[in-house]
Amino acid sequence: MQISFNHPGFVAKELLYIAEAIQREHTSGGGPFTAKCNLFFESQLHVQKSILTTSCTDALEMTALLLNIQPGDEVIVPSFTFVSSASAFTLRGAKIAFADVRPDTCNIDETKIEALINSKTKAIIVVHYAGVPCEMDAILSLAKKHSLVVIEDNAHGLFASYKGRPLGSLGSMATLSFHETKNFTCGEGGALLLNDNQYIERAEVLKDKGTNRKQFLSGQVDKYTWVDHGSSFLLADLLAAFLYAQLEQREKVQRLRENIWNRYFIGLQNSKFAENFELPTTNPHGQQAFHMFYLKMKTPEQRSAFIEWMKSQGIQCVFHYQSLHSSPMGRKVRASNNECPISDSLSTRLVRLPFYNELSEEQIDYIVKKTDQFFSSHSLPNF
Ligand SMILES: *Cc1c(COP(=O)(O)O)cnc(C)c1O
Repeated sequence: MQISFNHPGFVAKELLYIAEAIQREHTSGGGPFTAKCNLFFESQLHVQKSILTTSCTDALEMTALLLNIQPGDEVIVPSFTFVSSASAFTLRGAKIAFADVRPDTCNIDETKIEALINSKTKAIIVVHYAGVPCEMDAILSLAKKHSLVVIEDNAHGLFASYKGRPLGSLGSMATLSFHETKNFTCGEGGALLLNDNQYIERAEVLKDKGTNRKQFLSGQVDKYTWVDHGSSFLLADLLAAFLYAQLEQREKVQRLRENIWNRYFIGLQNSKFAENFELPTTNPHGQQAFHMFYLKMKTPEQRSAFIEWMKSQGIQCVFHYQSLHSSPMGRKVRASNNECPISDSLSTRLVRLPFYNELSEEQIDYIVKKTDQFFSSHSLPNF
């Protein structure tokens, strides 16, 4: 059996809707499918404004522009995350104060944030790792106390929630990703979600290359001209058509992913060798998005041997983030020299198992069996 790590699947009407976009002769940004996706997010996530973007990275870059981030500013970012959570701000000249993450959920450690706050700090970026919510109450109250903006990089956690509130609706701004590897996809794509009115008008200008095109189209101004910074952040309606077909299947996709996650969890929890690895931790204050399934190994050597063994059995398992604070660029843009030992440790021990909508029960059971077989010969302390 050959099982790849990811498999970008079709869920229903993607091709039909793409054909529709072509027939309507609106394939560029800002078309009818873009409007449908934005309305969908605004109503389902209870956010004030959704703007589809070319990627989550671009949506994060828009948040940096909206906050007027500039040299001399600092932004707090977890060390265990994707590069874009930090690079969107360093692109504007900010320094990054890297916060360590919690050993259980791998989310930013809310108790490590306050020590990083100073007069230069502008924002706290949180990442809901694996779609499991961060401890938002503590983070939001810290932000309020110090007048900081909270931005949720919610690339993993679409349709998850914290204390009944959808992720993406908790910070002043949030971003989504529709990259091929995410729960809902269109190849490459993203969204900027705004929960604070003051950013909406300017966000429309930024995404239209710094022009007042939107106001012009709605008749508010009689000239279409250059008024601010900006870039080409719009998602093509062709891709929004693909995305909308996926969003329509929200419930089906979530159910498939929940079943996969639960089957892995139960299968591995019952393993005779379960003391050799740690299963994923969720947050009792929320509902997760079932974005991925990972194991934490005891040692880096154990992880390497596991990945090799699974590969020899036809199963592609992969590691995840390398801690950003100790990366070559991270060292250049750091605001302080604090250690992030949990991020460093997770970088070397965390391994992700295959996870995609079409993964069958038979395939999951095979992966669980092969995991068991690995530990039957690689158990600690002898290994
Ligand atoms: C995937 C991902 C991104 C980047 O998303 P793109 O849409 O590829 O730009 C950013 N942050 C996190 C946490 C991600 O997982």
